[in-house]
Amino acid sequence: MEECISVFDMLKIGVGPSSSHTLGPWRGAERFLKELREENILGKVIRIKVDLFGSLSLTGKGHATDLAVMLGLTGADPEYIPIENIDKIIAEIKKSKQLPLAGETMIPFDMEADIVFNKNFLPFHSNGFSFTAYTADSEYESTFYSIGGGFVVKEERANAIKKEAIKCAFPFPIQNAVELLDYTIKENKSISEIVYENEKSMRTEENIHSELMRIWNTMLECMYIGCHSEGILPGGLNVRRRAFDMHQNLIGLANYSNPQEWLETIRKTEVKFRQILKWVSCFALAVNEVNASLGRVVTAPTNGSAGVIPAVLMYYMVIENHQAGEKEIKQFLMVAGEIGSIFKKGATISAAMGGCQAEIGVSSAMAAAALCELMGGEPAQVLMAAEIAMEHHLGMTCDPIGGLVQIPCIERNTMGAIKAINAAELALETDPKNAKVPLDKVINTMWETAKDMNTKYKETSEGGLAISVNMADC
Ligand code: SF4
Repeated sequence: MEECISVFDMLKIGVGPSSSHTLGPWRGAERFLKELREENILGKVIRIKVDLFGSLSLTGKGHATDLAVMLGLTGADPEYIPIENIDKIIAEIKKSKQLPLAGETMIPFDMEADIVFNKNFLPFHSNGFSFTAYTADSEYESTFYSIGGGFVVKEERANAIKKEAIKCAFPFPIQNAVELLDYTIKENKSISEIVYENEKSMRTEENIHSELMRIWNTMLECMYIGCHSEGILPGGLNVRRRAFDMHQNLIGLANYSNPQEWLETIRKTEVKFRQILKWVSCFALAVNEVNASLGRVVTAPTNGSAGVIPAVLMYYMVIENHQAGEKEIKQFLMVAGEIGSIFKKGATISAAMGGCQAEIGVSSAMAAAALCELMGGEPAQVLMAAEIAMEHHLGMTCDPIGGLVQIPCIERNTMGAIKAINAAELALETDPKNAKVPLDKVINTMWETAKDMNTKYKETSEGGLAISVNMADC
């Protein structure tokens, strides 16, 4: 079986706070609307019921799953919806108890009654959700699964993937790290060059360029917004935004008026080890504070872990290489995306399946590999950097307090970013011939660990910090 996963599948622009619990259900609602249109019943619908199961139900309130399905049912696109409109749309649905289905037909919708949080898990995947549309004389039901990183599947489709060999159109179909390394050796190319050839089989060079730069500009803007926003995050935990104060202390009284000027300003600041640690942490905090406040982020590979990759790329741009520009940005994102796709194929990027090792662990591995290539690492060292980063995240649980993507999530991104930089440096100092743990082995170990992990540590908020810390005490 060969599965084609593009860099643009791994790095998606969306809305926080969660790729599996917000972006996925939102996309599922959009797909349900499409089905209703194909069935010619969209205009006849008089009521919609939504059922959330398993992890989507247990942490759905904190992850804004209920809001995401409502927004999806209105036909809004998470990639383009103006963030400032979200609160207004939700408030209007709540107040009027009416929902503009696909933006076309007003139907009665009471979120308390029409979104049902079921505690049971569907057998196929822990993030199941169903929509039922009622017309005057019929009903139509459809079930989806949010499998991490904003990916949504139906059971029959997933089974079809298992049964049939999917024909991959990439010139270099890659299922694991060994295959990727083989291509780099045979073709005498870097990992990013191999990935670029694959992407060119699906898109024009202009489109690859513009979309990668759109992803980077969204990341940069997200860091900028996060560093310039103060206050308390929503949700009831009373978590104070920290990027703002940290950023103020680091940048001082410098003048700038947009994200690019800001980047140039940071390049001129003092960079002793402590400042570097603080800058990297500040970038990661900023992204995840924006994510926690339902802002626009790039899923990389998930929303909960969205801060690691921007923080490490920004580190390279403002600390390591002041000449770095579009070429390096694209190179970094292509390597990161490819490493993420290998984890998705060999294990999972869903915390509901594998705990936080699948989110922060994978994002750290993606960032470590990408940084290693930019710092001159040969392909075997790049893969080693990913391996080192994941090796030291194995077994990490997912236990968000109150089901909110805030504690431990926001801080954890800073740890993932710093580990990624360390992993890249270790790999650059190591002869790959001496490596004892190949990347594919660590991916397999991660998957076995995921399967052994108790359900309470897999995005259910039924174990770990989520039960040790009382919401009321926060
Ligand atoms: S603990 Fe990790 S996996 Fe769980 S929601 Fe937070 S960032 Fe995501």
